[in-house]
Amino acid sequence: MGIVVQKFGGTSLADSEKIKNVARAVIKEKENGNNVITIVSAMGHTTDFLIKLSEEVSNVPSAREMDMLLSTGEQVSASLLAMAIEEMGHPAISLNAWQVGIETEPEYSNARIIDIKTERLNKHLEEGKIIIITGFQGIANGDITTLGRGGSDTSAVAVAVAVKANRCDIYTDVEGVYTSDPRIVPNALPLKEISYEEMFELAHVGANVLHPRSVETAREFEMPMRVRSSFKLDNLGTLIIGVDKMEVTKPVTGVARDNSQVRVVICDVEDKPGNASKLFNLLAANNLSVDMIIQSYARSSNNTNDIAFTIASENLNRFKAHEEEIKSILNLSNIFIDENISKISIVGSGMIDRPGIAAGMFQSLAKAGINIKMIATSEIKISCLVDREDSEKAVVELCRHFELDGLEVAEVRGNLPSDVL
Ligand code: ASP
Ligand code: MG
Repeated sequence: MGIVVQKFGGTSLADSEKIKNVARAVIKEKENGNNVITIVSAMGHTTDFLIKLSEEVSNVPSAREMDMLLSTGEQVSASLLAMAIEEMGHPAISLNAWQVGIETEPEYSNARIIDIKTERLNKHLEEGKIIIITGFQGIANGDITTLGRGGSDTSAVAVAVAVKANRCDIYTDVEGVYTSDPRIVPNALPLKEISYEEMFELAHVGANVLHPRSVETAREFEMPMRVRSSFKLDNLGTLIIGVDKMEVTKPVTGVARDNSQVRVVICDVEDKPGNASKLFNLLAANNLSVDMIIQSYARSSNNTNDIAFTIASENLNRFKAHEEEIKSILNLSNIFIDENISKISIVGSGMIDRPGIAAGMFQSLAKAGINIKMIATSEIKISCLVDREDSEKAVVELCRHFELDGLEVAEVRGNLPSDVL
């Protein structure tokens, strides 16, 4: 008997009726002749609610207590789902991370899984039970840890890898992965397949479909994943697999927008060896990670460069605390911060060795009168920074240019959920 691992997100488990609906979906997979392990997120917006509660009692809650608190949400949905499945006549058991043995690095709030014990899982599967596991949580040195927001996806893939499952299905309330965010591009197209690499890039640039680490783990162990709807069980959604197993036709697979960064421009940095190193060492020492980086061509008149980069908006205050230090080590007077920006990215395995893709992107932005503020590329991704007010137009134009939209407005896929797009 094969093993299928499933994961259900918070919007699919938001109330008792939805939990019963999930119970039916789980049983359906079991009745297909598979052993089933189901990973659950917390119900609806429970995690946000718990965070709010913590803010009401403490300005700086300890990371340990935060993980203790946030991990409770998943325990509620796991036990309720197990009850609902038993009520429908199938043996089920819920387990938390400690009961399974999901070990993580000893780090709170963003821990990485290092090992998953399979003894208890195999035993319950042999007993014919459906296993429900709390997503998002792990244990380290006798404490509860969590994997970071959206981390249940990663719990699911890691469990699938540990038990050598046939595949890992991520159920949500949209019908799969789309070429772009349907709230911006109403006629975005559903994708039948996408490669791990493309999904990984899209997950990183603001398409909040999946926790990026889940895709990273699936890619490493070649675990096939599906993103599919918990309300339309006949629709198989989007399959995420290795690019070698796909027939790549279009150069670009998806367009994403990321509104979570700010741009910093360090002006008039003297053009001499060591300055960039000083600057970025200081940022690194303060745990400020940088995304796009551009250094301008040195002007011969005063022999200085401008260095621009982007950081996460949530780190802006921490950056500002070091502004004076930066000015003093680089001996300069001006640092500009631009918060009103969006990063627009096109992603596609098909752009490798195909000329003209960047030109096509810049041309369609130019035609729409959109100014590009920064550009960065990787093998399968091109990102442009634009003014935030231009960002929706940019995404729409790029979908049109790269034929990623349909003629008709796509059927509404549930209530576009907060945890999905
Ligand atoms: N409940 C956690 C969150 O809201 C984990 C998850 O849903 O994957 O981020
Ligand atoms: Mg999610």
